[in-house]
Amino acid sequence: MAIYNFSAGPAVLPREVLQQAQAELIDWHGSGMSVMEMSHRGKEYMGIHAQAEADLRELMAIPANYKVLFLQGGAHLQFSMIPFNLLRGKSSADYANTGEWSKKAIGEAKKFCNVNVAASNTDRNCTYVPAFDTWKLDKDAAYVHYTPNETIGGVEFNWIPNTGDVPLVADMSSNILSRPVDVWKFGLIYAGAQKNIGPAGLTLVIVREDLVGHADPRLPTMLDYKTHADNESMYNTPPTFAIYMAGLVFQWLKKNGGIGAMERANIAKADLLYAAIDASNGFYNCPVNKADRSRMNVPFTLKDANLDGDFLKQADARGLLQLKGHRSVGGMRASIYNAMPLEGVQALVGFMNEFASKHG
Ligand code: PMP
Repeated sequence: MAIYNFSAGPAVLPREVLQQAQAELIDWHGSGMSVMEMSHRGKEYMGIHAQAEADLRELMAIPANYKVLFLQGGAHLQFSMIPFNLLRGKSSADYANTGEWSKKAIGEAKKFCNVNVAASNTDRNCTYVPAFDTWKLDKDAAYVHYTPNETIGGVEFNWIPNTGDVPLVADMSSNILSRPVDVWKFGLIYAGAQKNIGPAGLTLVIVREDLVGHADPRLPTMLDYKTHADNESMYNTPPTFAIYMAGLVFQWLKKNGGIGAMERANIAKADLLYAAIDASNGFYNCPVNKADRSRMNVPFTLKDANLDGDFLKQADARGLLQLKGHRSVGGMRASIYNAMPLEGVQALVGFMNEFASKHG
């Protein structure tokens, strides 16, 4: 039986990537050792590291004046590193509040600066993207932070806020590499790896060079972007195996037509799933405003929550795993990242239709 993993993260990885990692696990390219065992200063690992960065730069068309940093600490650590590094003597930053992850970023930033919540969707239970003409931006803000895809609420931006000269900062943890983005429009992009990039333990930061090097000198060395930017992310031991795996994912993306092809596949998968929800006569419901529905994380509820347990049990028995919604919202959530094949979504939709006709 085919198994499809709809986990929000750590999440499904491309099967070919796992197979390649398996084939190379004990003896990488005749080196006689596993990537896990290699010195990060040795030429084999340095090659893997440089290739991963080069492939990512190519995939995302990252301009030369941006640094790519391979860090640790998760997106959570970025919630604090961003104000530490980007305030640059200013006292306040703008944040858009569009859901659980925005709220966490805001909560952390409040420890270090004034947060101006420039936009919010809490009036309608975080189910839509606030239109840009309603944003109350402060022209003196150090930066503007937003969350292009809310992993829990399933709300995704289809546009990029134009913040003029104020650097735009984006938490792309759950939609990076799923669609093309104009990197040059951002001051900083960050993402935990464990959804569309690779295994947990790696955090990606893409930062415009002029924003690096302005941290308070009392800041711990490891929290200063400059430390990592000046040392090709090798100031300390990087998460070598996670970077190697991310590199294999980048090669897989290149082989499969790059991010443009990924976007087309992601649209097809999301359309199929939302269409099934919308055609169910209310048996299933997705609360998110149609134009702002995430292509990556699809939350939905059953009309009768008493059926949730049966739904999950029967889905499990079909090999459709990890569909339980986040504990804060309940219901279901299907995460359909790049590595989820169309067949997985087809199998889910087939099961959902069957379940609805039995219980509807
Ligand atoms: N931001 C978003 C949008 C996320 O989806 C997540 C993880 N689910 C995080 C931040 C937190 O990431 P981490 O666990 O890597 O700190």
